[in-house]
Amino acid sequence: MPETRKGPHVTSTSDSRVPACAVLTHVFQHPFMEEDATPTNAEQRRLRAALTTRATDTCMACPFFEDCLDMAVTKHDVSGFVAATTSRQRAQMRNLLRVEVTADDMDALIGVIASGRQIATRDVVALRRAHPDESLDFIAQRLGCSLSTVKRHLRRARAAAASEADASRRHSPEGPSRGRLITAFESVTGMRRGTEAAA
Ligand code: SF4
Repeated sequence: MPETRKGPHVTSTSDSRVPACAVLTHVFQHPFMEEDATPTNAEQRRLRAALTTRATDTCMACPFFEDCLDMAVTKHDVSGFVAATTSRQRAQMRNLLRVEVTADDMDALIGVIASGRQIATRDVVALRRAHPDESLDFIAQRLGCSLSTVKRHLRRARAAAASEADASRRHSPEGPSRGRLITAFESVTGMRRGTEAAA
């Protein structure tokens, strides 16, 4: 995906349906963007600050920002830097908004194939989505597992998705309004929508 630049930090893609974070993986998925990363010298601290500024500016200019923030705060407890927030900041926002997010059921998401090698349901689902016209046998061969294992993981994925949707409805029938969401964002991050990151 070609990357285009807008100003010193902000990146957009030539395809407006693709968020910039999907292109800037060297920024958003850099090890220093992990919350528990511990830069050990001044150069590393400068790099981490530069990465955070770049990611923040990108998110603040992103056309998907509000939907992304809403999903990351009220629907999924994801890790990493998302919608200009760290996971700790999103937890603070949930407290302010009195929102609960159901934790992922890892038992339902992870299985074991006969060889003892662990296989994640998300890998099965990703392969299925990438090859919707291929048979389940094809997926089994790609993963090196049995057909019944593939079917079991797909059943689990459907059950987990249904359970998550149900829990989400019960915990937050309509979710906070966008106004409350943005107010909580500004309160926790010290930033205002459409402005540069706070120092
Ligand atoms: S707001 Fe969300 S979708 Fe947009 S660049 Fe940031 S993390 Fe990606």
